[in-house]
Amino acid sequence: MILNVSKIINNPGSSMELSFDEKIDFIECGKEKIKLIEPVRFVGEISCGDGKELYLTGKLNTRIELPCSRCLQPVEVTIELSLKEYFTKKGNLKADDEEFHPIEGNEIDLGPVFIKDILLNIPMKNLCNAHCKGLCPKCGQDLNKGTCNCKEDVIDERFAVLKTLFNGSNS
Ligand SMILES: [Zn+2]
Ligand SMILES: [Zn+2]
Repeated sequence: MILNVSKIINNPGSSMELSFDEKIDFIECGKEKIKLIEPVRFVGEISCGDGKELYLTGKLNTRIELPCSRCLQPVEVTIELSLKEYFTKKGNLKADDEEFHPIEGNEIDLGPVFIKDILLNIPMKNLCNAHCKGLCPKCGQDLNKGTCNCKEDVIDERFAVLKTLFNGSNS
């Protein structure tokens, strides 16, 4: 999403209202790819404070697909967040500037800004449902779909003491 800001840049006190959908298929997160099920919807405003810097505020929402933390089945997760971002001319940016995003010519690219904010707001724990039984730690069977033949009581004797400890502390 490239936004032309020529109307407001160098024009202190001016602002533009923004309302649009931006289709992003995937967000790369390390080796993982996070699938976006719905376009990113943004409603907000970009304003020019002192004539040099731009200030973006607004609300973003979308839906993404994440693996269930227990059974790894895909779960749809709603992302809703408020943005506050600053932009300045590319020449004013310091290396590794974390406070400002670049204005190149009279344009800013909102895609990387949205992606960064979505990544920062991804919930750590996602369950397909509160009672998800997860995967068997031995064979990987999805225990929501059926039981496996692993027996919990078949256990190396060296770990038997640990098991007793765990059972004691978990109950
Ligand atoms: Zn699950
Ligand atoms: Zn098993």
